[in-house]
Amino acid sequence: MNFINAFIYKPNRELFYVETTQKDIDNFYNGTLPNRLMELNGAFGTYDFPGLFIIKKEDIELQVLGIEYRPNDDRIDYPTDLKSIFLPGNFVNSDTTIDGGTFDEKIVNDYVIKQTKDAASVEFFNGTIISKQNPKVVQVYVMNNHNRIMIDADYKEESQEIETEMLSTDYENELYKKVYKDPITGHYNWTYLWPILTGYGLKGIQDYAFVHFNVKDFKAINLVYGHDVANDALKTIVGQMDKQDWVYHSARCDNDNFAMMIKDMPREEMTKKLKDFFETISFLKADPSYKIYYRCGVVPMRIAVSMGNRVGDAGKQAQSFGNRQYETEIIYYTDEMQNEQEWSAGIRAYLDTAIAKDEFVIYLQPKYDIENEKLHGAEALIRWNYKNNGLLSPFKFVPIFETGGLINKLDDIVLNKVCALLKKWREEGRELFPISVNVSRKSIGIPNLVEHLTSIVDSYDIAHEFIDFELTESAAYDNQENMIEIIKELKSRGFLTSMDDFGTGFSSLSTLAKMPFDTIKIDKSFVDGIGRTAESERDCGVIKHIIYMGKELKLTCLAEGAEDREQVELLKEFGCEVVQGYYFDRPLPIVEFENKYLKLSGG
Ligand code: C2E
Ligand code: MG
Ligand code: MG
Repeated sequence: MNFINAFIYKPNRELFYVETTQKDIDNFYNGTLPNRLMELNGAFGTYDFPGLFIIKKEDIELQVLGIEYRPNDDRIDYPTDLKSIFLPGNFVNSDTTIDGGTFDEKIVNDYVIKQTKDAASVEFFNGTIISKQNPKVVQVYVMNNHNRIMIDADYKEESQEIETEMLSTDYENELYKKVYKDPITGHYNWTYLWPILTGYGLKGIQDYAFVHFNVKDFKAINLVYGHDVANDALKTIVGQMDKQDWVYHSARCDNDNFAMMIKDMPREEMTKKLKDFFETISFLKADPSYKIYYRCGVVPMRIAVSMGNRVGDAGKQAQSFGNRQYETEIIYYTDEMQNEQEWSAGIRAYLDTAIAKDEFVIYLQPKYDIENEKLHGAEALIRWNYKNNGLLSPFKFVPIFETGGLINKLDDIVLNKVCALLKKWREEGRELFPISVNVSRKSIGIPNLVEHLTSIVDSYDIAHEFIDFELTESAAYDNQENMIEIIKELKSRGFLTSMDDFGTGFSSLSTLAKMPFDTIKIDKSFVDGIGRTAESERDCGVIKHIIYMGKELKLTCLAEGAEDREQVELLKEFGCEVVQGYYFDRPLPIVEFENKYLKLSGG
């Protein structure tokens, strides 16, 4: 198991905890936390993942599962149904495994014993910040493929900020550099900036904004000019950050990512300062004709102060809105982004609970044969009865789970539900027909994906011809090979496959020829244009062409999102075979779908 070490300053916090039995602790090491904690995970004002806390204070000795909050903030909805205890600000040594793996009390204990044995060699910054003579575990986290042990470290009260002057010996200097400096540029790293960033707000200092930026297309610089030139560009950047009198602290976080704590200024002035700054670092020394552009997110102080340790994510989130290739963009974090960020963190943490509570439901939208206007099949579409408060559209959560790496859990649920439904229909003696399920583009890279999907379908003993997997072309070229493999494998096992949202991504008709789909689903955006707008003629031309080519490739052509009769007539005229759209039906709850479309065989 590989550990990454970091020193961090944990500010004052209020620990809320549940009554914890040894069984709860065992469950925790197996990756399960009490539901109440999962509900709170990521809530406004919380500090970190919930975990196991080992508290040794004066007369108290406790091992509890809990979650930390920022104390004394009247905007926070504290979980007052839980017990709480105040944890004073503290330097801790955090050892995190990057490669997941199993974790138990024994591993934790062995690790600490080893640390104690090695105490002499890990005597950090004696007299400066941390001396780790008697390491003791204060917290353990087991989450998301990460295991973390936090070890208490003695520190001196007056040295809450890191001061280089206080370092005396070369040895300490070396250690200091290892921990707080970036080897490529020699500049400070994120481990240095982070405690300052969170510490400032804590001390009531509010005169700052947080900036996070990266270099657009940094990979291209590496590729075209080589590492030396690219590293030189990084050094130029840190050199300029260092020079600005409005930059309080700065760091190179990783790769081409940088962060700064800057003086708070009126918006216009700040934008100008940043623009001028980026201008000074917009040329490659090795090739002045190459212009460098940046993507920069700014979290204004007003929001930064209220965010605690999420400010780093906020900066990155604002930055991620930059999408123009040949332009330096400065994007300010907004209240909407904050709501979005809290919503995202909240639902990601709540997902397992939602699954356990069976909050996800499927709707079925019929597909019609255009010729005889009879049922051709149906698509299963997910809905979320979020906390039993009514149905959420997939647009509110699918993209969030896609970026969080959790989408395959949803796709599994839908496939299971569809199979269970087909099984039920079969038992009721109904006629079966293919149902399509969406496989997220983010799942394409999952090892043994086809094996996994097959095992779900087989566990219900459903014939493969009744499952139609809808795949969306990936946003990246380099996934195409993978995609082709997956389609071939699905086909060879007798499943149907459809290319969803055709026309919205990279694939052209010529790449489609390499992908042995059964059906192409022509995206709604093409259908929207026909029979309605002034450009109708042009859109008709495009659709006709797609259908023509589709037929050449022996694919079934399905048009998505036809909403009126005129569109259906035109599609029919162009030779489209199947239509899925509101004109025929919206996605329906299962019972409604059954009542409208299913007959008992022979009946
Ligand atoms: P999609 O797979 O392209 O599904 C078709 C979407 O178009 C559905 O929206 C459907 O309700 C909508 N639609 C169909 N006909 C019409 C029409 O005539 N007019 C209009 N305005 N819309 C029409 P829905 O159910 O909101 O799903 C949106 C997207 O969310 C889906 O697009 C799919 O990308 C994603 N999604 C839904 N369920 C799942 C799922 O189980 N797994 C994954 N990975 N994604 C899903
Ligand atoms: Mg679909
Ligand atoms: Mg679609």
